[in-house]
Amino acid sequence: MKMTRFVFVLILMFLLTACNTNGTDKDEDKSIQNVSYQTSMEEFEPQGVQPGTYGTYNITIDMKEDLTSNIDAQIEIENRSEDAWDEIKLYFIPQSLIEGDYGNQYGSDGSVNINQVMVSNEESTFSSADDGILTIPLNNQIEAGDKTVIDISYSLRPAPNGIRLRRQGGSLFLAQWYPMLPTYQDGKWNIEGYNPKGESYFTTNGSYTVEYQLPQPYYVMTSAHDQNNEPHQSGKVQGDNLKEMYISFLDPRDWYLNTFSANNTDLRMAVKQNAQDMEEEWQKSAQGSFTFFEENIGDYPLDQLDMIQNSGGMEYAGIIEGSSKSSGARANATIIHEIAHQWFYFQVNNDPYYDAWVDEGITEFANTLYQLEIKDNQNEAFQFIPQLNGVSGPDKPANLPLPEYEAVYAKAAYAQPVAKLWRLFENNGGQEAALEFLSTYYNLYQGKQVTTKEFVRFFRAYVENEPEGYLESWLDLN
Ligand SMILES: [Zn+2]
Repeated sequence: MKMTRFVFVLILMFLLTACNTNGTDKDEDKSIQNVSYQTSMEEFEPQGVQPGTYGTYNITIDMKEDLTSNIDAQIEIENRSEDAWDEIKLYFIPQSLIEGDYGNQYGSDGSVNINQVMVSNEESTFSSADDGILTIPLNNQIEAGDKTVIDISYSLRPAPNGIRLRRQGGSLFLAQWYPMLPTYQDGKWNIEGYNPKGESYFTTNGSYTVEYQLPQPYYVMTSAHDQNNEPHQSGKVQGDNLKEMYISFLDPRDWYLNTFSANNTDLRMAVKQNAQDMEEEWQKSAQGSFTFFEENIGDYPLDQLDMIQNSGGMEYAGIIEGSSKSSGARANATIIHEIAHQWFYFQVNNDPYYDAWVDEGITEFANTLYQLEIKDNQNEAFQFIPQLNGVSGPDKPANLPLPEYEAVYAKAAYAQPVAKLWRLFENNGGQEAALEFLSTYYNLYQGKQVTTKEFVRFFRAYVENEPEGYLESWLDLN
């Protein structure tokens, strides 16, 4: 959902360009001087939040001609918290999106049906999951350090009108499609009901094996390493340290695959047959930004990144949905933004319900630093910030829980961190110092979950002479 809003804001930005020419921002009047940075953070110990859970998934997908799949999802769940559990909670968003709370809006012509839930090979009861949360009671508690195996079999036919999880023509885009293990933090399951207006799930690294059988040959693009670049009917993918497992089955009548590389990573970009004339430009944006982020921020640990040029505008672990727009600037900005999320979303993790800006704001800051590299001048690279600040509505801190934003979400969580961070770096080392800051942050927090509080701890250890009230001017630190 975050990028849907982002795209909306980008559209707004283009509209506002015509009527908001001065774009004044009161903060821009006051430049920040004399800030310096730690040269070594060796003494600093990053403190990520412990997830409290670990999931090892074995999933089989058996798809029929009508694009209904019989899915069996087996999850070995490890209790890495300090509590004994008497129930397990899982996200099961298809139920909410297709048949449950949001079925009327988004579920038409789709279906989902849970056939059976097993706990340690015994059939179990379970809650309805109309809100996207599946609660499974346990006959025997799972003690701290112990594991159990949950097995859920269900049928799923994505709806054409679905959000993220959808079917289009003969192709399937499978996000939030399987039972997903949340974190267990602060003595409880950290899970919120599905909410199409905002980010609705938060997962951390797990291990995945997925086997698929398809009724006809498809291009297959997943979060894991895909070895087959041709349309095919069956296969198996495996990946560890993945935050989630996104899968797309693309109908070769509508799609083709463009493969290329950036540094040592294979990039695979699915392009619609009718968008071939955009391929070269999109490839340039992907290659340029990916290389820039690797060289200036840090290594991307996987050897493959997939991109689907539909209009999803959404990041997933190891794969992105970009834009299918033929208007170059917007499509390219979406590609670059989603690629940057591989660093700030997938590798450095955060809970999007409470700390959305930690990935969105930092990602957009990384995007802007790349724009500075490729655009002729700073105004062009930063063109959207004054317009975003022109979005009407109150100024709100960047770190409020999602439901507290409504219309000003993109302004608060995307634009504000970019504007504020750049104001700090602009006259204190500029782009180079900003990239060094992101690189230090990335290398300390890769594989960890960052909260606003932890970001502030890092920031104050790294930045010397922070102007009085600087962080408080855009973050709620109480
Ligand atoms: Zn984003």
